[in-house]
Amino acid sequence: MTAFRTLDQADVKGKRVLVRVDLNVPMENGRVTDATRIERVLPTIQEIADKGGKVILLAHFGRPKGRDPKESLKPVAEAVSSHLGKPVAFADDCIGGAASQAVNALKDGDVLLLENTRFHAGEEKNDPAFVQELAKLGDIYVNDAFSAAHRAHASTEGLARALPSYAGRTMQAELDALTKGLEAPKRPVVAIVGGAKVSTKIDLLENLVSKVDALVIGGGMANTFLHAMGLGIGKSLAEKDLAETAMRIFARARETNCAIILPVDGVCAYEFKAGAQNHTYGIDAIPEDQMILDVGSQSVERVNSAINDAATLVWNGPLGAFEIAPFDQGTVAAARHAAERTKAGKLVSVAGGGDTVAALNHAGVTETFSYVSTAGGAFLEWLEGKSLPGVEALKA
Ligand code: AMP
Repeated sequence: MTAFRTLDQADVKGKRVLVRVDLNVPMENGRVTDATRIERVLPTIQEIADKGGKVILLAHFGRPKGRDPKESLKPVAEAVSSHLGKPVAFADDCIGGAASQAVNALKDGDVLLLENTRFHAGEEKNDPAFVQELAKLGDIYVNDAFSAAHRAHASTEGLARALPSYAGRTMQAELDALTKGLEAPKRPVVAIVGGAKVSTKIDLLENLVSKVDALVIGGGMANTFLHAMGLGIGKSLAEKDLAETAMRIFARARETNCAIILPVDGVCAYEFKAGAQNHTYGIDAIPEDQMILDVGSQSVERVNSAINDAATLVWNGPLGAFEIAPFDQGTVAAARHAAERTKAGKLVSVAGGGDTVAALNHAGVTETFSYVSTAGGAFLEWLEGKSLPGVEALKA
């Protein structure tokens, strides 16, 4: 059960429904180049329209400083329309006369997109007067933008407190997956954390060691831990000044009974380059003039066996430099193993955050994992154990 209201509780028929969506899509020359975010919000739009609600979409785009035609959502309205298969009206402001006229023109089941909320400074300031201007346009509020929920902005937080508020279907799916992943998971839980640096993931590591049963540390960040343990890591990427942080995380893991699984071997090369000549060494025999660019096959076996022991997996960050072959192999092998366990009904697998989505796409497992979040910052803040203002406001 979820602790927030969903569309199941909302009576949308004949109502003006303000729907916060994430339409911050990549664009080139006025055309959307990746429509994933549009596709994700279609079910909520479709459902509200089918139930006879007037759908009023609110979204931000880019980081404009005031009104800026280059950051207009107008071309995105056309893209939403073509994916939705019905007209999407557009108003060139999200408050004031232009917005209210466009809203008044809506019939039940119609869809309207309002211009970029960030054209107004009140959006990021969560200014109560701006919130009231937005609230005038709607009877109820639906938030379907988990990826913006870590920010307490007018359209993500203020509005949820000003109107009866509900989670949209995409938000609901994301929150359900995250609850299953870490808040109320089936145990044992294993987390895999990889990527380049420890410094960007200290809070995340500290939160995970206190919540999961086993923590696999891979990627460049593993080197910082290996160095802190006194092992030679040659020319590998590492943050040697974070040895104390690494030791603190080890100590915390001992207190919470969280097993830490580090690489036992590493695929090494002289240079960070696709196809670089490489060799696998035991972790206590890394040559001084080489760098670790991936976990070796014995490490993958350990990761896979931790996955076999787990009922739940939470994954953020690649185990190696997955963008350059053959240093993608560790990440791909572990991802495929997790996908097989998921397919066999033995594992709930939740992954997300930045490069993780690209790495799992590369391994071809995105569809097989239980849930892959494309939310970036919001997903990472959730992994850090922080409460997300946009989600909290839906519970109120
Ligand atoms: P992050 O954004 O923190 O998840 O880091 C992802 C990046 O870490 C990717 O670009 C990988 O190439 C990089 N990475 C992972 N393992 C290593 C490694 N052993 N050495 C250098 N870079 C790595």
